[in-house]
Amino acid sequence: MQGTHEAHTGYTGRHLSVWIGVAAALAVAAAIFFGVCLAAAQLEQQQLKAELAQLQTALDEAEAQAAALQEQLAAETEVNTDLQTQLETALREAQEARDALQQRLEKEAEARRTTASAYSDLYPDLYAEPADLQSRAPENTVYLTFDDGPSARTAELLDILKENDIKATFFVTGKTNQEAQDLMRRIVEEGHTIAVHTYTHKYKTIYASVQAYLDDFYQIYTLVHEVTGVYPQIFRFPGGSNTGFNKSIRSELIAEMTRRGFVYYDWNALNGDAEGKPYTEDEMVDYACKGLGISHVIMLMHDAADKVKTVACLPRIIEAYRDAGYAFAPLTPEIKSYRFVKG
Ligand SMILES: [Zn+2]
Repeated sequence: MQGTHEAHTGYTGRHLSVWIGVAAALAVAAAIFFGVCLAAAQLEQQQLKAELAQLQTALDEAEAQAAALQEQLAAETEVNTDLQTQLETALREAQEARDALQQRLEKEAEARRTTASAYSDLYPDLYAEPADLQSRAPENTVYLTFDDGPSARTAELLDILKENDIKATFFVTGKTNQEAQDLMRRIVEEGHTIAVHTYTHKYKTIYASVQAYLDDFYQIYTLVHEVTGVYPQIFRFPGGSNTGFNKSIRSELIAEMTRRGFVYYDWNALNGDAEGKPYTEDEMVDYACKGLGISHVIMLMHDAADKVKTVACLPRIIEAYRDAGYAFAPLTPEIKSYRFVKG
C-alpha cells in the first residue's frame, strides 16, 4: 500500500511536474501564441498604420491639391470675373459709342439733307451742260493756264500767246474795273477759254460752306457772262481741289459743282511762280519743263501784277514744249480733267 501511496505520491509529483511542464508549455505556447497574435496584431496594426499613414499622406496630398486647386480656381474665377467685368464694360462702352455715333450720323445726315436741299435749290440758273470728260486732244498737248487775273500782266501774256498762235485758259477773279472787263473780253475774243477761279479768292470765305462757295461762284459766273457773253463751265479751286481750306466741305462741294455740270481742273505741271521761294527765270523754265514727258500737261501759272518773271519766261517755256513736239490747246469741258481729288 505504501508503495501505491508512494507510487501515488510519486505519480502525483510526476503529474504535477508534467502539469507544470504542460502548463509551462501551454503558458509558453500561449505566450508564443499571444506573442504571435500580438506580433501579428502589431504587424497588422503597423501595416494599417503604415497604410493609414499612406492614406493620410495621400489625403494630405489630396487636400493640399484640393486647396491648391481651390486657390487656383478662386484666382481664376477672380480673373474670369475681372475679365468678364472688363468685357462687359468694353461691350457697354462700345454699344454706347455705337449708339452715339449712329445718332450723330443720323443728325449729320439730317443736317446734310436740310443743307443740301437748301444749297441745291439755290441759283436755279447756275447749271452747265454736263460734259462727258473724254479727252479729244491729241497726245502731247500742253494746256497753259493762268490763275488770278485779270491783272497788269494779262495784256503782256495775251501778246505772247498771240505771237505764238497759242490758245490758253484764264481762271479769272472778280475784278470789275473797266480795264479788267476789257481784258476779260480780249481773252474771249482771242480764242482763249475764260474760266472761273472765284470772285473773292478768299479761302476762309469761299470754303466756309457749300452755300458760301456757290454764292461766290454765282457772282463771278454772272460777272463773266455779263462782261463777255460767255457762261463759263470750267473752274479751278483756289489752292487746288485738295487744299486744307476746303477739307470739311470738299466732297460735298465737288459733288454739288459736278451735279451742276461744272468741270474743275487742277494741274500736273507748274512754273513755281506762286511758291514761297522766289525762283529765277531759269529755275522757273526748268520747273515748268518737268512736265515734259507727260501726255497731257496742265501747266499752272499766275496772272498777277507782280508776276513779271512769269511773263518773262513764258516764251522759253513755250519754246521748250514746242521743240519737244507738244501742241498747245485751251481747256474745254470735254477734256479729261486732271484732278487731285476725284469727283
Ligand atoms: Zn489762285
